[in-house]
Amino acid sequence: MNFKDLKKYCSENNVELVAVSKTRTEKEIRKLYDQGQRIFGENRVQEWLEKKELLPNDIRWHIIGHLQTNKVKYIIPDVELIHSIDSVKLLEKVNEISLKKNVVTNILLQYKVAQEETKFGIDPENDSQIIDLICELKNVRILGLMAMGTFTNHEEINRREFQNLNLIFERLKKTTFYNNPDFKIKSMGMSGDFELAIANGSNMVRVGSLLFKN
Ligand SMILES: *Cc1c(COP(=O)(O)O)cnc(C)c1O
Repeated sequence: MNFKDLKKYCSENNVELVAVSKTRTEKEIRKLYDQGQRIFGENRVQEWLEKKELLPNDIRWHIIGHLQTNKVKYIIPDVELIHSIDSVKLLEKVNEISLKKNVVTNILLQYKVAQEETKFGIDPENDSQIIDLICELKNVRILGLMAMGTFTNHEEINRREFQNLNLIFERLKKTTFYNNPDFKIKSMGMSGDFELAIANGSNMVRVGSLLFKN
């Protein structure tokens, strides 16, 4: 699927497309920008900071991968959304820096729904501390949840994981965030599984290799 078709597919399904531009050059990014793409996702802060300087300033940058606390000061306030809040420590740091810079930073909570040991994310069985904290902190705004599926060819495994994130989302939407209209994003799906993710409730996909391969 090329960019135009993917963009169309996403808009027909009311899904936001994040073009994952990590490791891609300024020139490659500009090519998609010129076709109308505005949301780009990065996960290496240093690389992003260097590229950002060379690119149009109406690009809406998202940080999508694991973020170290010592990097937070470099990304605020320029980041539009951090997908990968995966610990209390990181959440507190994002709030602290946002307070210092007098901004409110948009975040997603990254849940661990995959069985793979290496994946970052919050344990769904053990999230009350971080959820309570989100409600207390004044300089972060939660827009929803994010998850990564297991890297596998077995659709059933990914389907279960995406449905699992839906259940977590519904639980929070009915309880803690019942009167929070900002809480609406489910960021799941990448090049290999975005169709499955969308069929299972995703409304924001993060697609890299598929978009940049030619
Ligand atoms: C790299 C990356 C993606 C995109 O992966 P592709 O398979 O290239 O589409 C999505 N989400 C995260 C967190 C990533 O690091």
